[in-house]
Amino acid sequence: MTELLRNPPLSLYVHMPWCVRKCPYCDFNSHAVKDSMPADRYIEALVADLEQELPLVWGRPVHSIYFGGGTPSLFSAGQIEIFLAAARARLALRPDVEITLEANPGTIERDSFSAYADAGINRVSLGVQSFDDRLLHAIGRIHGRREIEQSLHALRSSGIANFNIDLMFALPGQSLEQSRTDVEMAVEAGPAHISYYQLTIEPNTAFARLPPRLPDEDSAWEMQQRGVEVLEENAFLQYEISAFAQRDRTCRHNMNYWRYGDFLAVGAGAHGKITTPADGRVQRYAKHRHPKRYLAGLETGDWRAETRLLNADELVFEFFLNQLRLKQGVTADDFSARTGLPWQVAESRLQTAIDKGLLEAANGRLKPTSLGWRFVNDIQELFLP
Ligand code: SF4
Repeated sequence: MTELLRNPPLSLYVHMPWCVRKCPYCDFNSHAVKDSMPADRYIEALVADLEQELPLVWGRPVHSIYFGGGTPSLFSAGQIEIFLAAARARLALRPDVEITLEANPGTIERDSFSAYADAGINRVSLGVQSFDDRLLHAIGRIHGRREIEQSLHALRSSGIANFNIDLMFALPGQSLEQSRTDVEMAVEAGPAHISYYQLTIEPNTAFARLPPRLPDEDSAWEMQQRGVEVLEENAFLQYEISAFAQRDRTCRHNMNYWRYGDFLAVGAGAHGKITTPADGRVQRYAKHRHPKRYLAGLETGDWRAETRLLNADELVFEFFLNQLRLKQGVTADDFSARTGLPWQVAESRLQTAIDKGLLEAANGRLKPTSLGWRFVNDIQELFLP
C-alpha cells in the first residue's frame, strides 16, 4: 500500500436465517421454519459471536445496524431488544445510529412494530414486492394485499416514519400497466425509501429448476424506466441502481456498503469487512452458513468459516463494484482512503470506460453516464481481478 489507508465508517450487520417458507426465487441464506426455531439460543449466539469480533473495532463509532434475513420479524421485539442491549453495552453506537429491521407482511402482529420501536428499531424495510395478489402468488410469497395493508397500518401507528418498501418488477406474467400500478401504490403508502428491482432467476433456486415465464428484457427495461419516472415525479431520487429515497432518507447502512465502508457481521453466513490502517490490511470474513453449524459456536467458540486478506487487485475490483452503483460516482481521494492504493493503478481501466461512453468526469468525480447506468456490469467487468 502506498497511500494512507483510513478507517471508514463502521456498520453492524446481523443475519437472521429463518423464513416461514422459502420463496422459489430466493438465493439468500434462509431456511424454512419447520416446527419452531431456536430463537432464544440464536440471540445468545449472536451476542457471543459479537463478543469475539470486538478486538477488531475497539472504540470505533458504529453508524448503523441492520437486521437482515431471512425474516428478522419472526423474532420477537423482546429478543431484538436483548441483542440491541448487548450491542450497546459492547460497541460505541453513535447517538443517531440507524437501526433497520427487515420485516415481511404476514409475519407481523398488530402491535409488534410499536414494540420493535420501543426495542430501539428506528427504520423498517418491508418486503412488499407487489400489491397484486396474483403476482404475489406467482412468486410464492406467503402474503397478499390484505397482509400488506395490515403491516402498513401497524407501521404507521408505531411512529416509525423512516421505512422502506421493497418492490420487484418483471414478475411472471406482469404487464407494464401492472408494474406501474405497483409503483404508484408503493408511493401512496408513504414510505421514505423504495427499493425497486428486477426479479432475476438465480442458480440453485426452485425457479432455476422450473423457470416461470418472465417478461422479456425490453419489457423489463420499459417497466424500470416507467417506474423510475413515477418515483422521480413523486420526489423519490434515485441514488443507486435500485434505491430511491426522499430527501435525506437514503439508507445509511446500504450507503456504507456501496461506499466501501467497514462491516462487522454476526449471524449464520454473515459476511464482514474490516480495515486495519495500522498494518495496512483489509480483511473479509464469513460466518458458518448453516444455522445448526453456526449455533454449535456456543459450545466451540468457532464462528468463522473463512477469513482472508484482500490483495490489491481484489481491493480495486470490490471498490469499483460497489461505488459505481452510486449516482454520485467516485473520487480519487475515496479510492485511496478505502484501498490504500494510488488512483493511478485504476486509471487505464477508467479511461477505457470513459472512451466507451460508460463513465464521465464532472467536478472531480467520475460517474456512470446513462449508458453506463444501463450497462453497469460492463464497467464492473473492467475491474475483474
Ligand atoms: S422472505 Fe425473503 S429471505 Fe425469506 S425466502 Fe422469501 S425472499 Fe428469501
